[in-house]
Amino acid sequence: VIELGQPEHSVITTCAYCGVGCSFKAEMKGTQVVRMLPWKDGKANEGHSCIKGRFAWGYATHKDRLTRPMIRDKITDPWREVSWDEALSHAAGEFRRIQSTYGRDSVGGITSSRCTNEETYLVQKLIRAAFGTNNVDTCARVCHSPTGYGLGQTYGTSAGTQTFKSVEHTDVVMVIGANPSEGHPVFASRLKKRLRQGARLIVVDPRRIDLVDAPHIKADFHLQLKPGTNVAVITALAHVIVTEGLVNEAYVAERCDPKSFQQWREFVSKPENSPEAFEQVSGVPAELVRGAARLYAGGGRGGQGNSAIFYGLGVTEHAQGSTMVIGIANLAMACGMVGREGVGVNPLRGQNNVQGSCDMGSFPHELPGYRHISDSTVRSQFEAAWGVTLNPEPGLRIPNMLDAALEGSFKALYVQGEDPAQSDPNTQHVAAALSAMECVVVQDIFLNETAKYAHVFLPGASFLEKDGTFTNAERRISRVRQVMPPLSGKADWEVTQAFANALGYPMHYSHPSQIMDEIAALTPSFAGVSFEKIERLGSVQWPCNETTDEAGTAIMHVDRFVRGKGRFLPTQYVATDEKVTRRFPLILTTGRVLSQYNVGAQTRRTENSRWHEEDRLEIHPHDAEERGVQNGDWVGITSRAGETVLRATVTERVQPGVVYTTFHFPESGANVITTDSSDWATNCPEYKVTAVQVARVTQP
Ligand code: SF4
Repeated sequence: VIELGQPEHSVITTCAYCGVGCSFKAEMKGTQVVRMLPWKDGKANEGHSCIKGRFAWGYATHKDRLTRPMIRDKITDPWREVSWDEALSHAAGEFRRIQSTYGRDSVGGITSSRCTNEETYLVQKLIRAAFGTNNVDTCARVCHSPTGYGLGQTYGTSAGTQTFKSVEHTDVVMVIGANPSEGHPVFASRLKKRLRQGARLIVVDPRRIDLVDAPHIKADFHLQLKPGTNVAVITALAHVIVTEGLVNEAYVAERCDPKSFQQWREFVSKPENSPEAFEQVSGVPAELVRGAARLYAGGGRGGQGNSAIFYGLGVTEHAQGSTMVIGIANLAMACGMVGREGVGVNPLRGQNNVQGSCDMGSFPHELPGYRHISDSTVRSQFEAAWGVTLNPEPGLRIPNMLDAALEGSFKALYVQGEDPAQSDPNTQHVAAALSAMECVVVQDIFLNETAKYAHVFLPGASFLEKDGTFTNAERRISRVRQVMPPLSGKADWEVTQAFANALGYPMHYSHPSQIMDEIAALTPSFAGVSFEKIERLGSVQWPCNETTDEAGTAIMHVDRFVRGKGRFLPTQYVATDEKVTRRFPLILTTGRVLSQYNVGAQTRRTENSRWHEEDRLEIHPHDAEERGVQNGDWVGITSRAGETVLRATVTERVQPGVVYTTFHFPESGANVITTDSSDWATNCPEYKVTAVQVARVTQP
């Protein structure tokens, strides 16, 4: 404040990092941010923030920002700065050339959960209407796509059931595969306050996360499972609930599909699904599973209380990620813990607009609002509005696009605000696939890892330069307001629009609010959403149509599930293919730290780098001693996919046989060693289970 002077005016906007979606007041002097303060009226954060959001503005004007479009013929050529017109007409010419040579479906694109709803909607529209293909996918593919599948199959829609504030009415909290203190800090503060008031806690995590024994908090149960055995544990919990008579029979009879419940009951009752049968597999003592199941089912308060589940990427990023989401949904229905304040199933979304990017039709099989592309009624609505004929066949997912590139049938990719060359697993495979393409167009604020394989670079806008909306993990749609003009001269939606026009498909929006009006007109879950309403109410939660409160729906599935009756599905545990062997005897799992965000492209360019300067490998003292590794030593980590080197932290936070690292620094190469195994239903990568060997090495 002293250096930059006193603020002259302020703009309320939304944090661009995690799915909590905190509101901030950006205090400005001219077009320069002086500081950012958490906004007291923000409904997701009520005046709180974490150190990520507090210093988020630092990267917007970092010296690494690129503001001029660039092109080059080959990825080994130097970049050449060009005008917007030249860059866009070059990209459009290349895409049309490639399509006329290799076919319409030889191109595709990737949307970003860091972009607004309006920007994301426009990219998928560009791909479907201007490219003429359904080869569109989102970075949510690699994080919460199993949430989309699992909650869609059981409840009928892919979204968290509650507000964050609802936890103030929760008596038993079950946190599965999430570390809110590091990943979702403002929600963690709310959660810890409730726990200090006496709410009970069950943690399901291979690692001894902070919540297990934070000050004045003591988890009642820590089910410290082996990575990759989530489904064994959730099925064992269900077994106890069914066989010990803990099912909320009245709720199930009224709210759930009886046939599916009966099949599920028979499945989980089998002796092979008991906690005792799974003890060896999961490593969790059966009596802990039984105790946790009784506590969750009863909800505390003599069986009259509320239990809520919060889960993260430790659930989804597995070969059985979708099965695990289904298992969580089953458990909550069986105990009657869906549809009122204080209960529910709540995915903690990694990026700020994961919910929104999925809502906006970024998946190759779904139009906006999670409606299947094969549905001719839905398709005809979009065809009439967009003036095109849409392909009824689903397109390619990100991993399929990459595989097709290596096979020679996929040749051009448009990537907005995403960095698959760093964030996707087995980065050697990604690099080979990108190198095999004839035209890669990257739109980003920095020359990221993917841009190394690009032929066209289109400078993007940071969140401070954006005008639009983000949707947080509670389905809350908040305004992102422009704090300063785009450094490149163009907003991201204007770039996409210009690309469409260069391809010969006309787009003529003059403001993002017009894009939202189109979204609302074509997407039932967004019916009733408008910039005017959000400005007036502060934020709205979808659905917010004429059948709901004006501000929308705080709690989903109150009288009925979105699909009508809740559907149970069996959750057969299948061991992951990623096996430990003599050669790879340890299991590596991954996570985040408080001060850094995802691959660090933003936070590493802010003050946050002061608190966390490198990714390290956590290793148990027993495994460290066996290898002669001491705290701070350099260790080589080798997997079936690759190898990297990190410094070691010897700690009992991890159990013997398990090692752990974060993935915030590209030079650490966490994703060089993760494999390309993926979820059976959605291809979400199995980041959380990689068999590795660790050995002491000299400093690299
Ligand atoms: Fe809030 Fe998440 Fe931003 Fe932190 S990173 S300020 S918790 S939205």
